[in-house]
Amino acid sequence: MTTTQCTLLLIDDSKTNLSLLTGVLGLEYRILVAENGKDGIELAHSELPDLILLDISMPDMDGYVVCAELKKAIQTRNIPIIFLTAMNHLEDETKGLELGAVDYITKPFSMQIVKVRVRNHLELKVYRDRLMRLSMIDGLTSIANRRQFDRTLAQEWLRGTRKKTQLSLLMLDIDYFKQFNDCYGHLEGDDCLKQVVRTIKQQLERPLDLVARYGGEEFVCVLPETDVEGAVHIAKCIINQMKKLAIVHEGSAVASYVTLSIGVICTVPKAGYAINDFIDSADRALYHAKKAGRNGYEVGKLNAQRPKVIAQEKV
Ligand code: GH3
Ligand code: MG
Ligand code: MG
Repeated sequence: MTTTQCTLLLIDDSKTNLSLLTGVLGLEYRILVAENGKDGIELAHSELPDLILLDISMPDMDGYVVCAELKKAIQTRNIPIIFLTAMNHLEDETKGLELGAVDYITKPFSMQIVKVRVRNHLELKVYRDRLMRLSMIDGLTSIANRRQFDRTLAQEWLRGTRKKTQLSLLMLDIDYFKQFNDCYGHLEGDDCLKQVVRTIKQQLERPLDLVARYGGEEFVCVLPETDVEGAVHIAKCIINQMKKLAIVHEGSAVASYVTLSIGVICTVPKAGYAINDFIDSADRALYHAKKAGRNGYEVGKLNAQRPKVIAQEKV
């Protein structure tokens, strides 16, 4: 994304200011406007703008409160905020910056200065977003990495808890991959990993499904709102597609082509239950699939599911 594709949200009770700013900044960016704090917060949540220009003196809810609310919410806390205000005392500016605003411009303002500061902060925002995306992606296969997996699973666990829907997890591991590297070399091994990823991805159809590289030759699929039958169906499809893909693997003791073993686990998440038990259960199911002869799947049980013991303070 470049800065010209950015969206700005202007929150100001003065129509004159809004039209002045829209007239100039609208030539370069998409502009959203709100004439009070409440509408501004709502728009920030629904549209996730790249930058917010925020007035302080407004009836009902002042800019400081709006800023504090936006910084409190996970979805909006990283949107840079520039205060644009007639309050020009040192304490006002200090308070604004302490609340987490990136900049503070006092009225009457020079439109040139506003334009340049907006552009500078947008450039930083675009750069930071890019870094954030890169830090979530596996370099070799370009899919989500372990960090992104942890984050997504935690979000889906919460959502499943709220909505009482089933959440499934597949843990997949390439069979005899060490031998593959030994036979064909590490570069062929890397290429094999990419082909396996493509095959796994092709079997996931829903927008909320996520495939991630868990480590080495191990992958995970997070399948929200999916029951155990659905998860098993996907595991079977992946195993069948690997057969069709038929990457030759002479070093494998289970087939003439590269195969996968898969651990499957499904539950309705509950608050207070450890997410790690869920991952461990998928890992154990994968272990059983290996034990059972590889090139297959096993469905695990969440027998470790119990509330975490919360230490009680002595009274
Ligand atoms: P099993 O069937 O029990 O899973 O045996 P395995 O050989 O697949 O498992 P093992 O854990 O013994 O070996 C995993 C191999 O995966 C060893 C390692 O060199 C290879 N590997 C891990 N990451 C990469 C990678 O990024 N590229 C390549 N080419 N190989 C990798
Ligand atoms: Mg393996
Ligand atoms: Mg492994």
